[in-house]
This record gives sequence, structure tokens and C-alpha cells, in this order.
Amino acid sequence: MPFFLGVDIGATWTRALLIDETGRVLNRVKIRTSVNPLEDVAQAVADWHFDAVGVGSIGPLDLRSGWVVNSPNSPSRRFPLVEPLKKLGRPVVAANDCVAAVWGEYVFRRSVDNLVYVTLSTGVGVGAIVNGVLLLGKDGNAHELGHAVIDFRSKRRCGCGGRGHFEAFVGGANMPSFYQEVTGEPPLEPAEIFKRYRQGHEKTREFMELWLDALAAGIATVIAAYDPELLLFGGSIALNNWDIIAEELPRRLREYLGVREPTIAQASFGDDEVAIGAAALAYRTPESLRKFGYPR
Ligand SMILES: [Zn+2]
Repeated sequence: MPFFLGVDIGATWTRALLIDETGRVLNRVKIRTSVNPLEDVAQAVADWHFDAVGVGSIGPLDLRSGWVVNSPNSPSRRFPLVEPLKKLGRPVVAANDCVAAVWGEYVFRRSVDNLVYVTLSTGVGVGAIVNGVLLLGKDGNAHELGHAVIDFRSKRRCGCGGRGHFEAFVGGANMPSFYQEVTGEPPLEPAEIFKRYRQGHEKTREFMELWLDALAAGIATVIAAYDPELLLFGGSIALNNWDIIAEELPRRLREYLGVREPTIAQASFGDDEVAIGAAALAYRTPESLRKFGYPR
């Protein structure tokens, strides 16, 4: 039976895991993301047995060269994704993290031809399959809906420098300043905000009304872009607060939606979402990625 290595390069953590053809996890390792994370992975898995390797990484990417370029949050702004893994002597496939995640769902769990994955954590990322085609874009970055404008009059600056972006309101990194702006109270981390909301704090409830409307506006934009049958949420903020999102999002979404509503659900693999997706890219490489010359 063939085995596949999946690697998830996050801003803070790098995860690698080994799966079989059914997506079952057989081995795993987690290391802090360094300036050259794929070198560390190549070392950590040197004696594992596998047939091909896939990488899902924070971006932005240049899929042609196989490099991460100009990444704002990682220890190194530029690093190679493919070269360090070539020394392992197996075929290598690479893609953006959310692109990998949606492919993993498609291959192992949710075989619908119009499928979208949204991660809600420090930032917001999107991966989409439309009519069975995994969308990549000209450089592999066709997923930047976190930077869709949801309030053109807003003065709020996103981490990317733009104004009024989806991520500037709902991303975990931006929630503390958004909370301060709305409530006039000191900034709070997302976990603390959700805790207070559950406890019924009046000002936090007022803030969450806006946060949930911002989430609905952004998700309506994602749905308008891709027209999915099924939209899956991953990322720590969504997974840790799924009860609130599942309860509050659908009716707010109807205020903004212009097309038929998709089914909305949680993603399947928790913290393993991107790594399993990356392994799925190696197991069954999508046609759109083959056009970039993968596997290499
Ligand atoms: Zn932005």
C-alpha cells in the first residue's frame, strides 16, 4: 500500500504527517517554523517510508519557482518549498494551505464538485473547488478573499495595508483592535472576547453583533465568488466557537446573499486539515497543479 507525507507550513508551527490511501494518519511530527522550515521537515522524516510528498504553506506563493515569496508573518519572508524536499528522492507537490485543505476534504471526505473551505484563525483564507477544478490562479494565490472589501467606507487598515477588508474585521490578529474601537474598552484577545460573550457581558455582546455581521458579509462575498454547494469552516476561531457561528451565521447571511444558500459545516480534520490536504495533493494531484509542472 502506498503512503503519503503531508506537510503544513504555518507562521508558527510546521506539521508533517504520514497517511495511507484512506487518509488515516499513521505518524506525525510538529516543530516550530524556522527560517527554512522544509529543511527541518526533510531531517525529521528522513527514516519514514512514503511514496510522495505534498506541502501546504502560508503564502503568498510563486508556484512556478516553488517558493514562498513576501510572506508577512513567517520567520523568513522568502523560503523554498520544493528544493529541500527533493533530496528525499520522492515526487513533491506544493500549494497554498487553504488550497491543500479543500483538496483534502474533496479527496477523503466531501466529494462534491463545488466546495469551499474557509479558515478563520489569525487571518482568513479560502480554498475553492469549482465544477471539480481546484482553483489556483496565475501564481497559486487564487484564494485571497480575506482581502475582499466588506466596508468601503471603513478606515480600518488590514495587515496587508488595504482598508475595509474582511480579515481586518474578523481575523484573530485584528479582533483586539476592532474590539477596542467598538467598545472603547482595552483590546481583548479573541478567546477572551468569546468567553465574555458566553458570559453575557453587555459591551461584548454589542461587539459580537458587529463581528457576526462582518463575518456574514465576508462569507456572502465568498459565496458570490464561488457558488458552492458546501462551505466548510476550519481554523481555531471557527472550530472553538462553532456553536455560536452555527447559531448566528445563517440568518445574518440571508441579509447579504444573492444566490442560493450552500450547506455550511465544520471541516473534517481539525489541526490536521492542511497536512492531510497536502498529502492528498501528493496522492491524487489535481489537473490544475499539473499545469504548473507538479509533481516535481
Ligand atoms: Zn487585506
